[in-house]
Amino acid sequence: MTEENSPVARTLAVANQKGGVGKTTTAINLADCLANRGHRVLLVDLDPQANATTGIGVDPRGVSSSTYDVVVDGKPPLDCIIPTAYENLWVLPSHLDLAGAELELQSAFNRERRLEIALRDVRSEFDYIFVDCLPSLGLLAVNALTAVKEIVVPIQCEYYALEGLMQLRMHIAQIQRYLNSDLELSKMILVMYDRRTNLSAQVAEEVRLQFGGKVARVVIPRSVRLAEAPSHGTPIRVFSPRSTAALAYQLLAEEFESR
Ligand code: ADP
Ligand code: MG
Repeated sequence: MTEENSPVARTLAVANQKGGVGKTTTAINLADCLANRGHRVLLVDLDPQANATTGIGVDPRGVSSSTYDVVVDGKPPLDCIIPTAYENLWVLPSHLDLAGAELELQSAFNRERRLEIALRDVRSEFDYIFVDCLPSLGLLAVNALTAVKEIVVPIQCEYYALEGLMQLRMHIAQIQRYLNSDLELSKMILVMYDRRTNLSAQVAEEVRLQFGGKVARVVIPRSVRLAEAPSHGTPIRVFSPRSTAALAYQLLAEEFESR
């Protein structure tokens, strides 16, 4: 196979330096829906809290190697990637060890590009690679944004949603300038939308006004089922297939497919 017609994964980081805004939920469920639609998908867990790992049904205490080994020790990712219980969906699991990576990488060679270099080896194996980022703009997050072409930003339909977006955009501009000129803001996703409140509608309108076509058409509703699913280690498609949240992530996956 020539370079041109061998499949090369679309690479996407789900990022927002704020915690609790729906990054992991979005990474898991987008990855799962795309896998369910027949694409080969890798979910990379780059958060020491390992929520994406547990959320997809893998116990981080039981994994022998993790993103830590890949990013800090240069271990080949193919030795660390494991299959999930879901067809076409693999995970590069996280481990609490990763909490020390930020510090350990400070003196490492090519410290911003460790993940990018590692993922080069696996890009031809997958159709999509999602990196679930930690809530920070530190070195690990820099690694994520240097390793991907697209950024996906979940935005909580809450009062402070827009706060921090300016900082995130400046950060993206710095990465584009110094580390990854291919990087683009792919989509902003309105999540935790509560149709009973005016606030959700107002925030959604404001975000669409400011970011126009960058905002995904599909909106993810606030859903108790979605909050419950991770504790069962299942994506929403499996946990509550008929819920509006499952349908929303399904439609969002279709929107990503068609770009
Ligand atoms: P992050 O990765 O940005 O920290 P999470 O995806 O872990 O955010 O979400 C934070 C919390 O909110 C989790 O408990 C999660 O289950 C819950 N949550 C995420 N999305 C929704 C939603 N659409 N409706 C209700 N709860 C949600
Ligand atoms: Mg998270």
